[in-house]
Amino acid sequence: MDNLVKYYDHNEFSFISMEKLEELEDEYYIEYSTFEDCYINKDTSDYGYCDNDLLTNDTIENGDYIYCEDTEDYQLEENTVHLEDTDETVSIDYDYQRCDECGLIFSRDYDMHHRDDDCYCDDCWEDMEPVIYEYHKYYDGYYPRSLARESPLFMGFELEVDNVRGDCESLASSVLDGDMDDTLHCEEDCTVAFEFISQPCTLEYHKNQHYNDWFFSELDGKCESHDAGTCGLHVHVNKSFFDDRGYDRLKTILFFFKDELFQFSRRQRWDCGYSDFGERIHKNSVTMHKAKNTKHYGHSTWFNENNSSTYEFRLFRGTLKYETFMASLELVHNICMIAMSNTDIITWDLLLDGDYCREYSNSREIYCDSELNLGELEKKENELMQAIKKGLEENAFINLNYVCVGEIVGDKIVFYCLDNKNGELYKRRRDCIDLSEFETFEEYGYYYLCNRKELSNLLGGEF
Ligand SMILES: [Zn+2]
Repeated sequence: MDNLVKYYDHNEFSFISMEKLEELEDEYYIEYSTFEDCYINKDTSDYGYCDNDLLTNDTIENGDYIYCEDTEDYQLEENTVHLEDTDETVSIDYDYQRCDECGLIFSRDYDMHHRDDDCYCDDCWEDMEPVIYEYHKYYDGYYPRSLARESPLFMGFELEVDNVRGDCESLASSVLDGDMDDTLHCEEDCTVAFEFISQPCTLEYHKNQHYNDWFFSELDGKCESHDAGTCGLHVHVNKSFFDDRGYDRLKTILFFFKDELFQFSRRQRWDCGYSDFGERIHKNSVTMHKAKNTKHYGHSTWFNENNSSTYEFRLFRGTLKYETFMASLELVHNICMIAMSNTDIITWDLLLDGDYCREYSNSREIYCDSELNLGELEKKENELMQAIKKGLEENAFINLNYVCVGEIVGDKIVFYCLDNKNGELYKRRRDCIDLSEFETFEEYGYYYLCNRKELSNLLGGEF
């Protein structure tokens, strides 16, 4: 019995003599396993390898060995991982990906989602708070940002993108990952894929963000803005930057250079649905009176005064070109700064200061010889307003067969007629005229009747 050896045949262990084994070896393919200290009949039994060790089927089944697709052998279960996406088991040395949220493991071919250096599987990504906020559902607030010692002009932009290749959330988060100062956030916008919205920042602060290095470089080739034809670049500026005179000058500059601004905007149509430039006015007929009193509101206009704290320049078509983008911000900045300056003679060239603006304007061959003489228009406007105020203060009018007086309320002239109700005289609102339209009282059918003070005295001082 001394020379019995352990033998594995038809998936059963037994002990046989060495002589018997040698006989069997003539007929079968039998191999010795160091690991098992056993001869295994590979023709009749199941077997496998772990690394270079030959294992019997008993060991594989009882010892928690699992077949690994990558190494093509059996490994102890503790040295294996299960891939969720392919439902395969691989060895622990396989270059797998792990979801940082649920901890599940995925093959190297699986498309992980990334945000803030973490990766996420599809399921966890679905459950996450979206990077792109719903329209107007961003409640973290806007905080003006500037570098030291700068003008209090803040500009916030909205850049719309469309035709996104792949997943919008992934694109948004890959851009925002590079946003070290949290200058941007994203919102849905029903007319395009989504939009990037910035905090209000000074021009220098925007420049210092080096958007080209992470924002535009990340968007490149992954979506469209200008080419989509649906996208705009809107620039908000803070109303608080302007005093009354600055506002009047701002509007006059916009009206006077409307043609040049249209060319600069890269819009194809003057009356584009989201940026209607309104009335075409010849430069010679631009008055401060008309400019300051013509106000447009909402999503259809090129210059929107609707928001409580900002004026919105809606003229620019979207762009993914950093130089074009910066040229647009510079232009808005320059217009606002000059509006609030004391410069009287404004030329198109004067509005083009900066690193990008002039080159951009020249590249599009936008030239203008006419000068805007703001000082002169301001003087005319003052004279006109004085005349209107004086006329309303001093005159009573006759309109059809009504005696009327008027006053300025906001940007309108409101006329009242004197009415008689059961012997009591009272003022009834009769007519309302836009100051922007106004030229003379007669034009609206209001003719001089008498001195207002005398009429008032005559009626007992009430009117
Ligand atoms: Zn996960």
